[in-house]
Amino acid sequence: VIKCRAAVAWAPGKPLSVEEVEVAPPKAGEVRIKLVAAGICCTDEHLLQGCFPKAEFPVIPGHEGAGIVESVGEGVTSMKPGDKVIPLCHPQCGECSFCRNPESNYCQKSHFSELQNLLPDKTSRFSCKGKQIHHFLWVSTFAEYTVVPEYAVAKIDAAAPLDKVCLFGCGFSTGYGAAINTAKVKPGSTCAIFGLGGVGLSVVMGCKAAGASRIIAVDINNDKFAKAKQLGATDCVNPRDFKKPIQEVLTEMTGHGVDYSFEAIGKPDTMIAALASCNMSTGVFVMVGEVDAGSEISIDPMLLLTGRTWKGTVVGGWKSRECIPKLVSSYLEKKFNPDLLITHTLPFAQVNEGFELLRAGK
Ligand code: NAD
Ligand code: ZN
Repeated sequence: VIKCRAAVAWAPGKPLSVEEVEVAPPKAGEVRIKLVAAGICCTDEHLLQGCFPKAEFPVIPGHEGAGIVESVGEGVTSMKPGDKVIPLCHPQCGECSFCRNPESNYCQKSHFSELQNLLPDKTSRFSCKGKQIHHFLWVSTFAEYTVVPEYAVAKIDAAAPLDKVCLFGCGFSTGYGAAINTAKVKPGSTCAIFGLGGVGLSVVMGCKAAGASRIIAVDINNDKFAKAKQLGATDCVNPRDFKKPIQEVLTEMTGHGVDYSFEAIGKPDTMIAALASCNMSTGVFVMVGEVDAGSEISIDPMLLLTGRTWKGTVVGGWKSRECIPKLVSSYLEKKFNPDLLITHTLPFAQVNEGFELLRAGK
């Protein structure tokens, strides 16, 4: 058993408390990882506010991190102590029918099919003050050590800087893949991205890499526009600068709406606006943001009847164990630069300040 620090969420709506926790050794088929860096994604904020579906408290949040294998359980053959790894909030078991389907990246061991609040044997490896603490999406990266099933860990290049590639565990891979894999953006096309947090800015990077000729970045925070332009946006639009709905503004800017629209905010209203902003016949809308658990969206069916497509994406459509190491290698070859997504680097004890910065749109 390792004693180390972890940020525990005891109940929804409360700040995290950094506690000493015990982390049990990995059981058969599991890997214990010493985490080096973690990113903060808005999905952690959904969890802290109690809006993440089927989550349980107390819990150690965090699902975007990178680290080094500390020890492995019986039967683990694909990695060994000392290997650099990214724990995967969306696994790839390799055996389920979805994993065997080349068109799908939705593994049936995912949280939405099999709850990931405890490890697959329905026990936790974390305890604090004599209480069992839940895992989050199995990965719980806001801990100095974590235990994850082998099929939810990707071994990456030994040269990868862990304080940078932690973003490949969720935010960067999600946004970039939403453009490349889910929308399959074509060269010369027009795109609109609603929401320019870490995820939306990664969509901008994906659209640019796919050769889009016009990339319209949409946010209510003007401070997001400089970076969006640096990453490839050709136009930046703040819906608050207009009296008419943003979908009308974008349709006028492009003639018949964009070829691809993306929502990386997580609100019903902006999803509908993004859907209505794409071409009524051939437009593709990709829902990337997560709406609060229990919300529903109602739309005018005409929006779809004329031919638009509405798609969703989980972690950018990548088959995680197989593709995330390849993405890391492409990063090492300087094919894209997600380092620009890193705005602040804080010591672990200041994790709550990290959330304050996220809430303040910084
Ligand atoms: P973030 O909070 O950093 O960014 C959200 C951005 O949206 C901010 O820049 C904010 O100013 C902007 N915004 C808010 N309201 C707006 C409005 N009405 N119009 C235009 N812009 C508005 O969040 P993030 O970490 O980038 O995550 C974005 C979303 O993606 C979240 O809902 C998160 O849960 C989701 N997500 C989904 C997946 C997936 O696999 N599908 C993975 C990771 C994150
Ligand atoms: Zn699977």
